[in-house]
Amino acid sequence: MGKQEDFVLRALEERDVRFVRLWFTDVLGFLKSVAVAPAELEAAFAEGIGFDGSAIEGFARVYESDMLAKPDPSTFQILPWRDQGPATARMFCDIVMPDGSPSYADPRFVLKRTLSRAAEKGFTFYTHPEIEFYLFKDAPQDGRPPVPVDHSGYFDHTAQSMGADFRREAITNLEAMGISVEYSHHEGGPGQQEIDLRYADALSTADNIMTFRTVIREVALSQNIWASFMPKPFTEHPGSGMHTHVSLFEGDANAFYEAGTEYSLSKIGRQFIAGVLRHAPEISVVTNQWVNSYKRLVTGSEAPTHVSWGHNNRSAMVRVPMYKPLKGQSTRVEVRTIDAACNPYLAFAAVLAAGMKGIEEGYDMPREAEDDVWSLTDRERRALGLDPLPASLDEAIRLAETSDLLADTLGEHVFDFFLRNKRVEWQEYRGVVSAFERDKMLPVL
Ligand code: GLN
Ligand code: MG
Ligand code: MG
Ligand code: MG
Repeated sequence: MGKQEDFVLRALEERDVRFVRLWFTDVLGFLKSVAVAPAELEAAFAEGIGFDGSAIEGFARVYESDMLAKPDPSTFQILPWRDQGPATARMFCDIVMPDGSPSYADPRFVLKRTLSRAAEKGFTFYTHPEIEFYLFKDAPQDGRPPVPVDHSGYFDHTAQSMGADFRREAITNLEAMGISVEYSHHEGGPGQQEIDLRYADALSTADNIMTFRTVIREVALSQNIWASFMPKPFTEHPGSGMHTHVSLFEGDANAFYEAGTEYSLSKIGRQFIAGVLRHAPEISVVTNQWVNSYKRLVTGSEAPTHVSWGHNNRSAMVRVPMYKPLKGQSTRVEVRTIDAACNPYLAFAAVLAAGMKGIEEGYDMPREAEDDVWSLTDRERRALGLDPLPASLDEAIRLAETSDLLADTLGEHVFDFFLRNKRVEWQEYRGVVSAFERDKMLPVL
C-alpha cells in the first residue's frame, strides 16, 4: 500500500469517517456513486469494488458487465455539507476490468489516455473553466418555465442578493474541498451565475467540475432553491456556457508563449488553435452533447455559431484573451463552444486531441475574424472561410460518426456507447410536437 493510501486510511480514523463514497462518471457526464464502509477500503485500493459496469454506458446501456471501481487516493475529501454527525468522504475512481486493465467505458480513462499521449510529446494540459448556471425558485415542475431567483444581469451588484449569498456559501464549500475559485459574478440572464475555477491540470479540473456540480446542487437545495446547468433553459435569455481557457506547458514553460509575436502566441499555440478550430464541428457532439445545447449556439446570445477566432470578439469561437499585458505563464486560449452540461472528461479530451492534431500536422491558423461574425451574411461568412458549427444534435452526430479523430480519442467503446445514447435522444426529440408548432400552425392550418 502506498503513502497516499495510508494517509487516507489514517484520515478515516482521525476524522471519524463512517461512509466513503466512491465516485465515477458515466459517458454522459452523470456522477455515479457507491458508498462503502471504511473497513472495505483497503480491499478497494488493492483490487477495487465490483459493480455492474453497464451503469456507465448512459441510458442506452445494453448488457451487464463486471467492472471494478478503484479509488484514486489523491482525490480524498470530506464532504463539507455532511458535517453533522459522522463524516462522509469521497474519492474519484478509475474503472478497471476484472483482469485489472483499464475499463473501455471509463470517461476518466479517456482523458487520462489523451493526456498521456500529449505527455509523450512533452506537454501537460491545463484548463480553467468559467462555469455558468441558473438559480431557480423551485424544483422543475411538469414542463412549466422555471422562475429565476432574481432579475439581475451581467456583473450586477444588488443589496441582499440571493445570488451573492448563494455564491458565498458555494465557494466556502468548494474551498473546503480543495477547489480554488478565482472569480464569481452574476451572469447575463436573470438568476444566472458564473463561478470560475483556478487553473489546474485537466484531470484535476474535470474532477473538480464533477464535484462543483454536486456542491452547487447541494447548496441550492439547502437554500430551498434549484440550480441547473441546462445549456439553454429560456428562449429569451442567454444560455449557460463553460468557456474553458486552455494552455500547454513544457516543463515549467508555457508552450503557447513567445515574446514579440502577435498576441505573444508561439507557433505551437497557433497550431493548437488551428487544430481546435478545424476539428470543432466533428467534436461538437462532445462539447455540446444535448438536443438543447444547439439552442444556445444561436446568434445574439454571446455564444459562438461559426468556426472563428479573435481577440476581443465575443462572437468568436476561440478567443485569445488580452486581459493583462500577457506575461509568459498566462498565455492561453479561451474555447467558447463548450457548455456547462458536457461530460468534462470527454470534452477536455476532445479539445486536447484536436489541438494536438494541429501541432502534429502543422496546421496554419486561419485569418482572425475581425467582424462580428453574427452580423455577416452567409455569403460573407463563406467568403471569409467561417464554417458553421452544427445547428442541431442530429447534424453533430452525423459529423461525429465519420470523425477518425473522435473515434481515436474516445476509443471504440466509448465512441459507440456515446453515439448510441445521442441517437436515442435525437429520435425521442424529433417525434415530439412542440408548443412552437402548435402556436404557429393551429391558428392558420
Ligand atoms: N452565457 C454565454 C454563453 O452561453 C457567455 C456569456 C459570457 O460569459 N460572456 O456562452
Ligand atoms: Mg467569464
Ligand atoms: Mg460568462
Ligand atoms: Mg469567457
